[in-house]
Order: sequence, then structure tokens, then C-alpha cells
Amino acid sequence: MIPNTNYSNLKDSYLFYNIAQKTKAYLSEHLDTHLYRMGIGDVSLPLCDAVIQALHKAVDDQAEKHTFHGYMPECGDPDLRKTIAEYYKNRGVELSEEEVFVSSGASDELGDILDLFGRGKTVLIMEPAYPAYVDANIMAGNKIIHIPAGKENGFLPMPDESITADIIYICSPNNPTGAVFNYKQLQAWVDYADRINAIILFDAAYEAFIEEEEIPHSIFEINGAKSCAIEICSLSKTAGFTGTRCGYTVIPKNLVREGMNLNQMWVRNRTTKTNGVSYIIQKGAAAIFTEEGQKQIQENIRVYKQNAACLMEALDKLGIWYCGGKNAPYIWMRCPDGMGSWEFFDYLLKEIQVVGTPGAGFGACGEGYFRFSTFGSPEDTKEAAKRLVELL
Ligand code: PLP
Repeated sequence: MIPNTNYSNLKDSYLFYNIAQKTKAYLSEHLDTHLYRMGIGDVSLPLCDAVIQALHKAVDDQAEKHTFHGYMPECGDPDLRKTIAEYYKNRGVELSEEEVFVSSGASDELGDILDLFGRGKTVLIMEPAYPAYVDANIMAGNKIIHIPAGKENGFLPMPDESITADIIYICSPNNPTGAVFNYKQLQAWVDYADRINAIILFDAAYEAFIEEEEIPHSIFEINGAKSCAIEICSLSKTAGFTGTRCGYTVIPKNLVREGMNLNQMWVRNRTTKTNGVSYIIQKGAAAIFTEEGQKQIQENIRVYKQNAACLMEALDKLGIWYCGGKNAPYIWMRCPDGMGSWEFFDYLLKEIQVVGTPGAGFGACGEGYFRFSTFGSPEDTKEAAKRLVELL
């Protein structure tokens, strides 16, 4: 038996392991010290009331014979699929409910979706990148073309006509940089994908954080995207579902390659490889899209945005270059005085007990940069910002 030898090409991900080791070592030498954790990519606020009530009700449904639900449809509860399609309609994107697939979250989908493409494909990944893109494609045996981004293009690389690929990952708002593509820039990516016959995998995990009108929430707001893109969404950061697990994926019905319909292929994939998302979780997810739910999730997002404003104010005061923060829950800053990412990490930990994420962990071009998350508590974020200003 020969295992998937592509796994031997994976590099160990030292990023979060190293952060954990370094903070553990620091705390063992500085007992009872409070750390200001600005590195976490997990939310800190609980689920909103509308979701909690829907979850409770769904649990009660499962207790009674006449309201009990067994297996759910593999591609999602038709009511939830319809609700999500309507959510897109509010933004001017027409989708049918069959184009929306309910999932257990974006991470699962980002890897699983590669089933649609067969093996040995060429994949374009803009870096710094969410690490799962690279690892899922190494496991699949795909060839990865790394497109480095930098300060000079605001961490928003544009297509290079001399390169061709089968699959293009785009994450906007971006993790880790917080950078966002505008309509014109995304149109250029869609036109390019069309020209080279590639499929865009658009990761919209942070769309709910967009506040500027000129930033698209969905790739399907762009002309021509329905014939070259798949959108992968998550309710994790939108509504605090990191531990509850639900997301959705949009595959247009007219996404066809070599006469094969990718929407129909995904139906076949889901009905083979999943038995759907649980009834209870889908009822909780549906509550997010009610008027009350939308209002309540916005209250939580507002808290994270205040954290962002607080950190951005500190960096502005210090005259430090950064991007993100405005339409995204991450702030990506240049390390001061030419420091390396890990050097700056150690410096902040030792001097002001602030923990962030070294940019080098998201690809080589992230060296010299640092990511702050805005998902921490407002008290800790305020204190961390104050300490940053005093230190630098
Ligand atoms: N995509 C990006 C860019 C992310 O940052 C994350 C989580 O941090 C995910 C996808 C995964 O989301 P989920 O919790 O739905 O698996």
C-alpha cells in the first residue's frame, strides 16, 4: 500500500505552535502576568440571542416525534438555501437556491472543493495567505504558483498575463492582511480567469466586516463571475459560529468546463461524501438572516470594529504603515526599525506582554510584518494599544 506521498511535501506549520511555546515559556518565568492576546483568529463574543433561541427551539423539536428531524438534505435545508439566496438578492446578486450549498464551515470546503478539479492542477495563491490554501493543495498534489504581495501594491496583487493556472484563490477581505479588492480590481481578476479558463475560489469569510460602498461583498457582484467563480463563505466570524460550525458555498449553475457542470458535480459530491449539516445548527444559522439576527450580529461586529479603530489610532499616532482594520478584522503592520516578524513578536511579548502573529508565518513575503486580530476583548485591546504607543 502506497500512502499519499504528497503529505511528505507538507511543511510543519510552526506558526501557532511557536506562538504557544513562546508564550508558555514567558508565562512560566513570569507567573501571574496577564498577556494581551491580539493574535487570536477566534471570536470572543457569544452567539447572539436570535441564534440561541432558534437553537433551543430546534433542540426541543428533536424531542418530539412530530417535529423530529433525521438526516437533512445533503446540500442543505431548502429553507436555509433559499434564505441565503435572498441575502444575496439584497445585494443585487440573483441566485437560485440550488446554487447555494450549506456547509460545516469554510475550512472544510476549501479543501473538499478540490475534488471538482482532479489532481495535478496548477493553482495560483497570493501570499501572504491563509495557510490552508497551500496545505490543501500540497495534499492534492497540485502545483502551486506563489504570487507575492507587498506594501507597494497594498498587498493586493493584480493578474500577471504571463502566468496561467487552473485555479485561483482570492481572499477579500483578506486574512492575514485585511486588504480588500475593489470592484475594478476584482473585475480584472474575473476577466483574467475567463481569458485563461481558470476557476476562481473566492473566500468571502470576512464579507460581513466590509463597511465601504466601493468594496464588493461577493465575487458574483462582478460581471462574468458566474461563469468562472465559486464562492466559499463562513458564519464563523460573521456570527460567532467558530465552535457551532456552519457556512455556505455558492456554485453557479452555468459554471461549466469541458461540458461538465460543476454545480451538478458538487451535488453528486455532497450526496456521496456528506449527510448534511445537522438540523439544529441549520436552524441556528437561519436565525442569523432574520431582521433581528442581522441587527444583533452587527452589534458584535461593531465591538470588533471599535477594537480595530483603537489599534489603528495607535498605529496612526506612531506613524507606522499598516493596511486592513477598516473592512476586515485584521490589521497588518510593518514592523518598526526594520525588525523581523519574530523579532518583533519577542520584543512585544517581553516589553509589553502583547501577543500578535508574525507575518512570516503566512508566506515568505510576510517577513517584516505583523498581524493584529481585533477579536479580543475591548479592555485588553485598549490596554495593548496604549502600551504599543508608550513602547514605540
Ligand atoms: N477562510 C479564511 C480566510 C479564514 O481566516 C478562516 C478562519 O479563520 C476560514 C476560511 C475558516 O472558516 P471556518 O471557521 O468556517 O472553517
